[in-house]
Amino acid sequence: MMGQATRLAEIRTRIDRAMAEHGRPPGSVRLIGVTKTFGAEEIRPLIAAGLRDFGENRVQEAAGKWPELRGETAGITLDLIGPLQSNKAAEAVALFDTIHSVDRDRIAAALAKEITRQGRNVTLFVQVNTGEEPQKAGVSPQETAAFVARCQGVHGLAISGLMAIPPVEESPGPHFALLAKLGKQLGLPRLSMGMSADYETAIAFGATDIRIGSALMGDRPAAPEKAGNLASG
Ligand SMILES: *Cc1c(COP(=O)(O)O)cnc(C)c1O
Repeated sequence: MMGQATRLAEIRTRIDRAMAEHGRPPGSVRLIGVTKTFGAEEIRPLIAAGLRDFGENRVQEAAGKWPELRGETAGITLDLIGPLQSNKAAEAVALFDTIHSVDRDRIAAALAKEITRQGRNVTLFVQVNTGEEPQKAGVSPQETAAFVARCQGVHGLAISGLMAIPPVEESPGPHFALLAKLGKQLGLPRLSMGMSADYETAIAFGATDIRIGSALMGDRPAAPEKAGNLASG
């Protein structure tokens, strides 16, 4: 069986190749290792291999394993990539450096309050439901400009970029193109897009933050939710 460090090296090679092929400058794509469902023992080999950016989709699960791992190694950053409930905003702001799932005024208000109260600097992405799937989190493409404006103007939040999870059964390219177009229109420089199956395509369309789970960690144990149909956490 291939170890995490070997998979990481292979993914880095593919990222570098895709970046070179599409004229992306060095350092313009950040790899986030998605470690949801995996325990500390399976994560440590990646930290040993030099990975420092990690993503989790549930606040509670991340709170259970990351404080210890962070205590062992300096410089680890943690991204919340799953949906956030406003009653978990305080915990999320305390634990995560980046939150990819801002998609409602209620969440934006709760985050603004906690960011101020805790004096924390948290990087924020607005999640866009590019496929307009009823079960999926995110604002619709038509609502994105108005929502980003409210985040900035009403809630006083700095928004760094947009995030999307394309529908599993569709070709991702048009969804990445749409997210890139919206980001450009709104002057938002960062794009969180691309997962195990499509990160090279995402890099071609301008992804700056790619979220890779199974290609790095191996298959996840059977879970009640799929990436395309996220339960709240
Ligand atoms: C699980 C998850 C990923 C990683 O998915 P893989 O296909 O395993 O790479 C990326 N983004 C989000 C939002 C996820 O929930």
